[in-house]
Amino acid sequence: GEVFDVIIVGGGPIGIACALEAKKKGLKYLILEKGTLVNSLYNYPSNMTFFSTSEKLELDEIPFISTNPKPHKQEALEYYRRIVTSEHLEIHLFEKVEKVTSENGFHHTSTSKATYSSRNVIIATGFYDIPNYLNVPGEDLPKVAHYYGDPHFYATQKTIVVGASNSAVDAALEIYRKGGDVTMVVRGPAIGERVKYWVKPDIDNRIDEGSIKAVFNAEIKEIKEREVVITSKEGDQVLENDWILLLTGYRPNFEFLKQLGISLSNDGRKIPQYNPETMESNVPGIYLAGVICGGTETHKWFIENSRVHAKMIIKNIVSS
Ligand code: FAD
Repeated sequence: GEVFDVIIVGGGPIGIACALEAKKKGLKYLILEKGTLVNSLYNYPSNMTFFSTSEKLELDEIPFISTNPKPHKQEALEYYRRIVTSEHLEIHLFEKVEKVTSENGFHHTSTSKATYSSRNVIIATGFYDIPNYLNVPGEDLPKVAHYYGDPHFYATQKTIVVGASNSAVDAALEIYRKGGDVTMVVRGPAIGERVKYWVKPDIDNRIDEGSIKAVFNAEIKEIKEREVVITSKEGDQVLENDWILLLTGYRPNFEFLKQLGISLSNDGRKIPQYNPETMESNVPGIYLAGVICGGTETHKWFIENSRVHAKMIIKNIVSS
């Protein structure tokens, strides 16, 4: 059958950057994406604003025009979609990669629909598919969500937001402003250090004035139909509650990486092994690109600083 030069797993911004570069170099490539185009982005909160300015989100210097200093989710969807459609990039959507086997310098990528053979594979699968579960009783109740969409849903409702980083803070502020009764439950003693510097005073002031309640040094012990039990140094507290958002981060699919034969660091960070000059993993011909490279440190790589992976990888593929 036909053999591809490179199969790209994941149709996020970085998978698209790799495809653009592969096309430019005349390689036979294909992106396999398990969901819709830029699936992670599509599933971000509806009012999400990037922390990067639009130039920093650009791929291959294709201008990203935005009238906002920092573009909104909808603009980014337009931008990345237009790149794919106007460059006629080869992409199969709603086709999940289930495994990759490697033998004699060839890789066989099996999806829900077919198997593709290639000389190289790029893994650009991001980290947004698997939430960091709390593993507490009641976490599977229908009132619990690990993803936040739109604040209107929570209007007038007693809503607990767990977490203290950007996604938790953004959700708490938006829901409060749409009439939700918000309590943040924070494991540490304060709002996170990495919260965007222009948002930090807003959340601190809302908490100080009591418009948003916050319980620090506390954890969720149990989630019940009408209540949530939280535990802290002062003992257990029962809060009346309608909805609970567990915004405690996400993690890459480590099982998938292991199945491919990629080694993970055993210092707790699970950083996949790769050569930082070529982005080739410990499995010859399998490359890593984008935020997947950070292991559990999901804040380390983002579009801004990982879009360069595309050129590094394709350059190495072309020269080998
Ligand atoms: P992703 O965009 O996650 O793409 C991975 C793709 O792989 C997904 O579409 C997924 O569906 C697909 N996939 C996964 N597994 C499989 C499989 N087995 N088979 C097929 N397809 C698969 N970064 C910035 O640079 N600036 C910002 O301002 C910014 N703001 C952010 C705000 C939020 C709320 C979040 C959550 C992230 C933000 N980031 C930002 C980080 C940014 O989202 C990532 O940098 C970016 O999405 C990384 O692109 P990626 O292509 O590596 O991964």
